[in-house]
Amino acid sequence: MEFLLDSMLGRLAKWLRIMGYDTHYQSKYRLGELYRLSKDRIFVTRNKALYSKLNGVLLSSDILDDQIRELKEKLQLYPDIKNFFSRCVICNRKLIKAPLKLAQEYVPEYVFLENRDKIRYCPSCNRFYWPGTHRQNMIRRLKKWGIILQS
Ligand SMILES: [Zn+2]
Repeated sequence: MEFLLDSMLGRLAKWLRIMGYDTHYQSKYRLGELYRLSKDRIFVTRNKALYSKLNGVLLSSDILDDQIRELKEKLQLYPDIKNFFSRCVICNRKLIKAPLKLAQEYVPEYVFLENRDKIRYCPSCNRFYWPGTHRQNMIRRLKKWGIILQS
């Protein structure tokens, strides 16, 4: 499943990327772009006029929790846990294993020492990612939404 999110849905885009879904999102689109991109992707929107032109999924809520639940119900969203945290939340690029030299230079030392082999890197926007309390909080939310099943 690959997504195209309209410009109102930045927070939802971030979370779909956290789940590993290829998610196209821009803060502005021209209509022609949306038409072109929606051919290969599931268009998700809060905008009835756009929905009537492009189909896809129309969300009824402004609240992230409800949007996730709606999407989960409508599309049977049960992402593979293997893909979680595999994608840059900012630019959607697939993350790669961080080159050690680069990580050592740019990541705080204690993080580097603890996570050496688990640090990921976005080759497009040069961000580093690693497991930490931030990720634990995300997992907690994903469990609350039933995206990750409680164990
Ligand atoms: Zn990036």
